[in-house]
Amino acid sequence: MSGISGVGMAEVVESDALRTLHRVFGYDAFRGEQEAIIEHVVAGGDAVVLMPTGGGKSLCYQIPALVRPGTGVVVSPLIALMQDQVDALRALGVRAGFMNSTQDFDERRVVEAELLAGELDVLYLAPERLRLDTTLNLLSRAEISVFAIDEAHCVAQWGHDFRPDYLALSVLGERWPDVPRIALTATATDATHREITQRLAMQDAKHFVASFDRPNIQYRIVPKSDPKKQLLTFLKEEHDGDAGIVYCLSRRSVEQIAEFLSAHGVETVPYHAGLDAGTRARNQARFLREEGLVVVATIAFGMGIDKPDVRFVAHLDLPKSVEGYYQETGRAGRDGLPSTAWMAYGLQDVVQQRKLIQSGEGDEAFRRRSAAHLDAMLALCETVQCRRAQLLRYFGQDPTDASCGNCDTCLTPPETWDGTIAAQKVLSTVVRLKRERGQKFGTGQIVDILLGRKTAKVIQFDHDQLSVFGIGEELGEPEWRGVIRQLLAQDLLAVEGEYGTLVLTEASAAVLGRQRDVPLRKEPKKPAGSARSTPRGERKAKAVAAAADLPEEATPLFEALRAWRAEQAREQGVPAYVIFHDATLREIAVARPTTVAELGGISGVGEKKLATYGEGVLEVLAEQG
Ligand code: ADP
Ligand code: ZN
Repeated sequence: MSGISGVGMAEVVESDALRTLHRVFGYDAFRGEQEAIIEHVVAGGDAVVLMPTGGGKSLCYQIPALVRPGTGVVVSPLIALMQDQVDALRALGVRAGFMNSTQDFDERRVVEAELLAGELDVLYLAPERLRLDTTLNLLSRAEISVFAIDEAHCVAQWGHDFRPDYLALSVLGERWPDVPRIALTATATDATHREITQRLAMQDAKHFVASFDRPNIQYRIVPKSDPKKQLLTFLKEEHDGDAGIVYCLSRRSVEQIAEFLSAHGVETVPYHAGLDAGTRARNQARFLREEGLVVVATIAFGMGIDKPDVRFVAHLDLPKSVEGYYQETGRAGRDGLPSTAWMAYGLQDVVQQRKLIQSGEGDEAFRRRSAAHLDAMLALCETVQCRRAQLLRYFGQDPTDASCGNCDTCLTPPETWDGTIAAQKVLSTVVRLKRERGQKFGTGQIVDILLGRKTAKVIQFDHDQLSVFGIGEELGEPEWRGVIRQLLAQDLLAVEGEYGTLVLTEASAAVLGRQRDVPLRKEPKKPAGSARSTPRGERKAKAVAAAADLPEEATPLFEALRAWRAEQAREQGVPAYVIFHDATLREIAVARPTTVAELGGISGVGEKKLATYGEGVLEVLAEQG
C-alpha cells in the first residue's frame, strides 16, 4: 500500500476491501452500510454497529482483518459455534483459528504458535479468556489488526452469563489504543446501544445503525384454536422438508410438541435447558449439519446460530417482549430467501403471561417493566395495521411504507367492529362474579354464562340466575374468547392471583359508563395465505426477488447440486452451507455455467471455492445435461 503514491488513502483502502470481497467471498458488491463501516475500520477507526441478523455483520470485521496487517481478534461468547465459524472461513481460504475452553493444551499451543508467527488472519476468542493475564500477554506479543466484539449486547444489564467477561473488555481500548475496535449487535433498542457505547468505552467510535427491516420474512400471527394441528398444517402445507425452529415456553411443551411432530413424520429434535449438555450439543449440531430438520426449543436455543437457510420460525407461546420476538423470528432467512415467522396466539397466552408477571419475582419496578414489554407485544398481536411497520416503529425506525405487502394484516386486512356492547357484557359479568367472595372463576365460566350454558359449575353457583346469563348468544365461543383476549390486551381487564381471576381495571369504568368505545379486531375465519402460494406485495424485496422463485426447469439441477453438496459436507464433516449457500446453488442451477470462469462469476463463488469445488460442480452440471 505504501508504495503507491499520489493516490488518496480512501481510494486505495476501498479497492483493497472490494478486491477482498470479490476474491475471497465471491460477492459482487457490498450491502447497505458494509462499505462505509469497513472503510472506517480499515482506516483505523472504532465502530459500533447495529445491524439486524442476516444483515452481513461478519464481513464488517472479516474484511478489515484480511486487509490490515496482523490478526483480527474476534471476541464471541458462542463457543459451541466457533469450530463451524472457523471451518467456514477456512473453506474460503482464510487462515482462521480459535481459542476456548473446549481445547486441550496441545491444540491451544498450535494456535498460539500460529498467532505469534503471524500465520492467522482471524482468531476467535471466548470472552473469558481475555480476563486471563496469559491471554493478554500472548496478544501483546502478536500483531493485532482489529478487535471485533460480537454479540456486544452481552454487556447490557439484561445480558447474559457472559456479562462480567464482556464488561472486562473495556481494557482492550486502554491496552491497544492504536488497534481499531468494532462492536456489533443485532439488538436494536436505544438503551442497549447506549449501554454498549458506555460500557465498552466507545464514545469516540463512529456509530452505524442499519435498517432493522427483514423484508424476506413474512410475519403472521394467527388466533390459537388447536395449536398442534395448526402447527402441523402450517409445516406440511408451507414448509414441508424445510429447516425451522418451533419455540415453546416450557420444557414440557417442548417435549410434547417434538413427540407430536415426530409421530406425524416431521424430523424433529428437542432443545431445552433440562436436557444434558451432551444431548443439547448433539441436537444443535444435527440442526446445523442436516438439511430440513426442525428443532422444537425453549428460548435457550438460537443465539448466534448462523445457519443461513432456516425457513421458518414458529411460536406456539407468546414471547415476553417485542425484542424477544424480533430476535427469535430473526433467525429465519439469513440468506435473504423467503421465510415465515408464524405465531399462534390466544386468550390463555395473555392470561398466563399476566399471571406470571403478577406472581413472579422481582420488585414493583421490575413488574411494571415486564408489563410494559408484554403490552407492546400484545399491541403487535392485536394490531389491524401492518405488523412490519409496527415492529420498525417500536425500534424507533420509520417504515418505508405504511403497508409492506408481506405480513398477514397486509395480505388479508382484518376487519374491525364496534365491540363496545360486547365489552360491556363481559365487564358486567365480571362485576357480578366478583361479588361471590372467595370464589375463583376463570374465563371459561364467563363465556359459559354469556352463552347461557347450564354447566355443572354454572348451576352449582346459581349463575343461571344472574341477569347476565345468556345475554351473549349473538356471538360464539371463539368470538367471546377473542373479545376477552382483546380486553386484556387493551388493559380493560386484568388478571389477578394464582388462578388468573379476571378483574376490572381503572379504565373499565369508562366502558361500563358508556364514555368510551371499544373497537375490536374481527377474528379471521381462515388464516392468511402462505409465503409461497400468495403473490407478494408490490414492494417486492430485492433480496427476495433475486433468488426466490426457482424456475420449474431449474429444480432438478438444484436438487442434484444439493445432493452433491450433502455428500461433500458429510465427507468433510462440516455443515452443508459451509460448502455453498442455497442462494449460490440456485443461481448456478439457473445460470448453468459451462466453464470455470463462468462459474467464478456466480455470487458466493470465490477463488478458493472455485479451486476446490469448481470441477465437481461442473461435473454435476454436465451429468444433468
Ligand atoms: P449477520 O452476522 O449480520 O447475521 P452474516 O454476516 O451471517 O449476517 O451474513 C448473512 C448472510 O449474507 C450470509 O450468508 C453472508 O454470506 C451474506 N452476505 C453478507 N454480505 C454480503 C454481500 N455483500 N453480498 C452477498 N452476500 C452477503
Ligand atoms: Zn405489512
